Amino acid sequence: MPEGHTIHRLALDHTASLGGQRVAVASPQGRFADGAARVDGARLERVTPYGKHLFYEWSTGDVIHVHLGLIGKFFTHPTPAPAPSDTVRLRLTGSSATVDLIGATVCELIDPAGQAAILARLGPDPIRRDGDPERAWPKLQRRASPVGLALMDQSVVAGVGNVYRAASLFVHGIHPEVAARTVTHEQWLELWVTLRTWLRQGVKDGVIITVPPAELGKSRKRIAKGEALYVYKQDRCRRCGSEIRRWDLGGRWAYACESCQPRR
Ligand SMILES: [Zn+2]
Repeated sequence: MPEGHTIHRLALDHTASLGGQRVAVASPQGRFADGAARVDGARLERVTPYGKHLFYEWSTGDVIHVHLGLIGKFFTHPTPAPAPSDTVRLRLTGSSATVDLIGATVCELIDPAGQAAILARLGPDPIRRDGDPERAWPKLQRRASPVGLALMDQSVVAGVGNVYRAASLFVHGIHPEVAARTVTHEQWLELWVTLRTWLRQGVKDGVIITVPPAELGKSRKRIAKGEALYVYKQDRCRRCGSEIRRWDLGGRWAYACESCQPRR
């Protein structure tokens, strides 16, 4: 599943290619035909990213809410674009770029009140300037469940997925199974700063890099996807050489080096 950095990157790209324009909106697949018809030809005022959600805000006052889920993807073509396949849920045609959406979990038309209701359910987003770690702190303090689950819970902190979860807990020496409420305030603020730094850098890089490029002996631009990770999908710990343990945590794989991340 795309993590927050991918969503923010998409928002920047779509704002650059379609923002401020009158956009032709269609649903070649048909499942979003009514919503598309309502904003077809309207001006795209802005694209707002929050966590793993995208909000396309139109001059009509309508908002298209997109959540990619596990398999959703955007494709960009130069305009005029080739004829869409019948899997394209949403096609946005601007003067120079055409954006297609396929496979998304959510593609719905909402109003600003609906948008506000979704935002109210989400925790702070570390990429956003308004992201405040203190909003997440009371929720962490109440939870006896594993911190590894809390970090992926979008109502606690928005935008963190499996890869950033694994790496951030590793670098701070925290086992994913430790109860969220045993994490200290200082540890949480350190985790937040790490997540904020990595996620913001991820918006620029387009790939997730959690191991310092100097440690890999190559420049940031030459690092391939999946190469700069400490524990996620790794066999051995990059720091101590111990075997990485992998287990099912709430339906998603968790990874840890149990030497570097003791259970206490
Ligand atoms: Zn280790």
